[in-house]
Amino acid sequence: MKYVSTRGDAPVLGFDDVLLAGLARDGGLYLPETWPELAPVDLAGFAGRPYPEVATALMAPYLGGGIDVEVVAGIVTEAYARFRHPAVVPLRQVGSNEWVLELFHGPTLAFKDVALQVLGRLFDAELTRRGERLTILGATSGDTGPAAIEACRDRDALDVFILHPAGRISEVQRRQMTTVASGNVHNLAVEGTFDDCQDLVKTMFADLALRERLCLSAVNSINWARVLPQVVYYAAAAVALGAPSRPVAFSVPTGNFGNAFAGWVARRMGVPIAQMVVASNRNDIATRFLTSGVMEVQQVHPTTSPAMDIQVSSNLERLLFELLDRDAAAVAGLMARFAETGHMEVEPERLAPLRAVFDTARVDDATVARAMGEVYAASGHVVDPHTAVGLVAGRECRRDPAVPLVTLATAHPAKFPDTVEAATGVRPALPAHLADLFDRPEHVATLPCDLAAVRDYVVANARA
Ligand SMILES: *Cc1c(COP(=O)(O)O)cnc(C)c1O
Repeated sequence: MKYVSTRGDAPVLGFDDVLLAGLARDGGLYLPETWPELAPVDLAGFAGRPYPEVATALMAPYLGGGIDVEVVAGIVTEAYARFRHPAVVPLRQVGSNEWVLELFHGPTLAFKDVALQVLGRLFDAELTRRGERLTILGATSGDTGPAAIEACRDRDALDVFILHPAGRISEVQRRQMTTVASGNVHNLAVEGTFDDCQDLVKTMFADLALRERLCLSAVNSINWARVLPQVVYYAAAAVALGAPSRPVAFSVPTGNFGNAFAGWVARRMGVPIAQMVVASNRNDIATRFLTSGVMEVQQVHPTTSPAMDIQVSSNLERLLFELLDRDAAAVAGLMARFAETGHMEVEPERLAPLRAVFDTARVDDATVARAMGEVYAASGHVVDPHTAVGLVAGRECRRDPAVPLVTLATAHPAKFPDTVEAATGVRPALPAHLADLFDRPEHVATLPCDLAAVRDYVVANARA
């Protein structure tokens, strides 16, 4: 299997090189040259098998000899052994023919662990094989940082530097990062805002000499190897609910569109997904694009589902590439216009294949709070605000009550205790492995919001 860039002007690469490259050299995103297909008999064969086996079988055709399938089998087994539920991603019924798929049983209680626990190990295995090292650099407003740090900690081939705005993230989120005592983990509390942190990271990535010297890389959903493990749970949940003989519907709380795009891939491969609901909070660039064909940047509004407070949904570019029949020159033109003006559009006819399966809804904070209260009253089940966005949107858009509706539960409610308590009266407790989070010592360097200070710190501590 080879991979091509959505912008058509980057080298065609194998899985191992795509893993290490992340973003393509032309600014595009990598996608497989062709889509492997799952026949009904393949899907039926997933029934009753342990999750790591399903993950290995689904991912195998994407490896193309780049990384050995036995290595991947070992990696997913180890990664998912860290999840605190025997089913890894259990389904829980919350209503009539209505389910949530709990993706938050990993080490940091966010669905990002499902992919990042695999990605960190893939990086380490491939770099060790090559005798190379990488420096992972990122900025976080809360959820991505802890998952990235847990994925990279103690891995000899990686150093990880995560910037967060000092004093501006929740204590649970900060402590999930700063209490990790590992020589290759570096927490930088920057005296500025999240946007300042992101600008510092972007400037360092744009410095090509620095980028090469430190072998800088990122672990966001621009990386194909982060999207791929997310395809697995769509297939596993569908099979658990009766696929291939019965179709299923999903509702996905959406930010960067990586998770929703993974659902699109699952359907493209042959998983019988009758409907996909793309759910956004007030920050609705993805749902606006899917309904109107217009992609337009607006101001970010803080909401009670902060992991979805996103201005630009990077994975829409992969969907666009597919919608334009893989016309890379057209994608490159549209994305250049978007970068320049913050606006681009495709003809509404182009969206027709989407309409058959995608529906969208935008959910405000008041509705989210009401829904959390209602779900708790009706089922005794406490959901986090991101999951609630998905539940509301799924109910609003549901086409056929006979088709099981699965909402992806992307965070554990204990990550957002104040919002959950205000809506339900219940203050969710942290799981046992994090119960002493507030007693553990913190490891963090506080730095001024200054490029030279941050760059010097990274250069002094990176081993690459
Ligand atoms: C990252 C995140 C999302 C958004 O996922 P995307 O793949 O960026 O669309 C939703 N919910 C939670 C809790 C997250 O951490």
